[in-house]
Amino acid sequence: MLLQPTAVDPPDLRPTPTPRPVERIETAAPSSTPVPPTATATLTATASPDPTEATSGTATGTPVATLAPQGNTFVVGQSAQGRDIIGWSFGEGPRTLLIVGGIHTGFESNTVLLVNELVAHFQATPASVLPGMRLMLIPVANPDGLVLGRQTAGRFNANGVDLNRNWGCEWSEEAYWQDQRVDPGARAFSEPETQALARLIRETQPAAAIFYHSAADGIFTGDCPDGGVSDELARVLGEASGYSYGRPFSAYQVTGTAASWADGQGIPAVDLELTGTRDTEFVRNLRAIQAAQCWITGSVCQ
Ligand SMILES: [Zn+2]
Repeated sequence: MLLQPTAVDPPDLRPTPTPRPVERIETAAPSSTPVPPTATATLTATASPDPTEATSGTATGTPVATLAPQGNTFVVGQSAQGRDIIGWSFGEGPRTLLIVGGIHTGFESNTVLLVNELVAHFQATPASVLPGMRLMLIPVANPDGLVLGRQTAGRFNANGVDLNRNWGCEWSEEAYWQDQRVDPGARAFSEPETQALARLIRETQPAAAIFYHSAADGIFTGDCPDGGVSDELARVLGEASGYSYGRPFSAYQVTGTAASWADGQGIPAVDLELTGTRDTEFVRNLRAIQAAQCWITGSVCQ
């Protein structure tokens, strides 16, 4: 069944007179025993990430959902306005599962909260990272958009570019979000955020990648003409989580997306769209990630 365009992101179309604060996740406050930095040879270690990231606010003083960076963090790159894009690494295995939230922020900022909750979970229970695995989590791919709070402008980066129309598979200067034209950037990878993420993906060659969005409710297969490697990942995630799966996003034409680019690089990838724009749907997503780990490592998991 095709999703109707009107069923996608409906809250994004509603005016909101006052941006609502995004709750901060308190469960992963800096611990007294920081985890030592993970050995990630190709990544830039951050011995002392900017502590102000955890408490920086919007122009109106609204707190934003940013965890305080700790020992096992790294800087993926910088946003258009110079904010660090922070990644978290758990496990030392050779097989990487990449999990990205907040490529669209604004009304989709619950994906930031979700990935922050996942970070807190893997910090608290490192044994849930399977042997042979490394989990790489990036809660906020678009930190400039996040500080704008819940408003449409928060979907885009500080240059007004839609970061999920800026990637190098089927990039088009004519790009859409539902029936609206959006700015895909001057060319593929014109934006520092997509450059940084693509560099990370090229260097780490993850076994699979999940890009979180809301709220089209379903798992949409990355689908590049050069790829076609993502169907099995979508099935594994869908069976574990209960989200629908089995097709690329088709409610309207999308171009230059992260998941399709990764698919074209031979990396199984999906867009996982949460059902709403508020809840994090944590439990079913944790189930999906555990199933993905089992699939990647060939483990038998029940
Ligand atoms: Zn999105």
